Amino acid sequence: MAVPKQRHTKSRRNKRRMHIFAKRPALIKCPKCGKFVLPHVICWNCGHYKGREVVNVLEKLEKKERKAREKEIKGSEAEKKEKKPLTWEGLSQK
Ligand SMILES: [Zn+2]
Repeated sequence: MAVPKQRHTKSRRNKRRMHIFAKRPALIKCPKCGKFVLPHVICWNCGHYKGREVVNVLEKLEKKERKAREKEIKGSEAEKKEKKPLTWEGLSQK
């Protein structure tokens, strides 16, 4: 069996390990419900991908859970509608 000839210092060990760390996954916001999801993957909160429904997530849920989920999805949509793009006229009025 190979045996280390000499002890490596903490500094040397840590320098070796400095590139070993968990990378934060690149997440995007779901355009439908606003949850953070992996890119190129359907959103498992609302079941939408590329602007259309792919999976009916509400189908398998209990009645209580279904209501909560529907509310969550609708709430984020309403929130999106309220946001208006900034215009020069709107800014100059204030
Ligand atoms: Zn979604």
